[in-house]
Amino acid sequence: MQKASFWNKSENNKTICNLCPHNCIISEGKRGNCRVRKNINGELFTETYGQICSAGFDPIEKKPLYHFFPGSIIFSVGSIGCNLHCKFCQNWEISQSSPDEFLHLRSASPQEIVKSALNKKDNIGIAYTYNEPTVWYEYMLDIAKLAKNENLKNVMVTNGFINQEPLEKLMEYVDAFSVDLKAFTEDFYKNISSAKLHPVKETLKTLHKNNKHFEITNLVITDENDNEKVFEEMVKWIASELGNDTVLHISRYYPTYKLKNKPTSVKTLLNFYEIAKKHLNYVYIGNVSTEKGQNTYCPKCGELLIQRNRYFTQVEGIETGKCKKCGHRVFSGG
Ligand code: SF4
Repeated sequence: MQKASFWNKSENNKTICNLCPHNCIISEGKRGNCRVRKNINGELFTETYGQICSAGFDPIEKKPLYHFFPGSIIFSVGSIGCNLHCKFCQNWEISQSSPDEFLHLRSASPQEIVKSALNKKDNIGIAYTYNEPTVWYEYMLDIAKLAKNENLKNVMVTNGFINQEPLEKLMEYVDAFSVDLKAFTEDFYKNISSAKLHPVKETLKTLHKNNKHFEITNLVITDENDNEKVFEEMVKWIASELGNDTVLHISRYYPTYKLKNKPTSVKTLLNFYEIAKKHLNYVYIGNVSTEKGQNTYCPKCGELLIQRNRYFTQVEGIETGKCKKCGHRVFSGG
């Protein structure tokens, strides 16, 4: 446990947490909405500092990041808690737990995490993932600073629901972001995820403004966010606000946790792929095997650059991030 960043004292020994847009007002002895930040004697603490629930080496494609050091391996760590409460969360056992409820946390100092990451020769860095890293911000930042000194890359897999000040502070240390854009209506965010859309859009704009590498994942859920018009509105917004080189992963939903809707039809995914391709250069289909939406082609000359089969990645037509045939820049790193 460690003292938290980004909070103020309030009346009657309450604390106001300014880390994410919930801005929770927390009474003494209570936790915030994310279940892992607690008011103890009028001061705010991050309870999961130095506490992880899992760690291991993953393909970078699993984050998913397809344009950041393609074909590489990244050390991935996660803890518990989340500032969203998505009814379809795949990791709800860890994301919707407090330290009192989840009994399998283990201690690992930032130094130990970096040491583990350095143990594998071809590992490119550390991914903060599995649960929302915003809610263990201080721990993530301390690891990221040490990792940077060791020339490791830092990757944040996030729902993007974070306030601007803490986000800006990450710009110096985090190299790439995988951001979930769960839907493009405030209603969905409110009813399905207990959050708001607007701050997530602001996060994406900040990443773009700071020239950060980021890729967006949109999980398409049957009868919840599979409206064609709204999807196209979202894709147009991405193209106009973030640029048409923004990478979009359209992901298939399967029933899980509290949501029992049918799995998304492959027909819908293929239709959305075609819609997205009208506006964006790099669109992929995830969570299902389809012929379309797996490989990367050069948007300038059409050359096949990367062939993918699930997490098996064969880099073919690129050199130092550029198309070998025409020299167009497509990738960060690799
Ligand atoms: S990080 Fe947690 S405690 Fe802080 S505002 Fe967000 S949900 Fe509330």
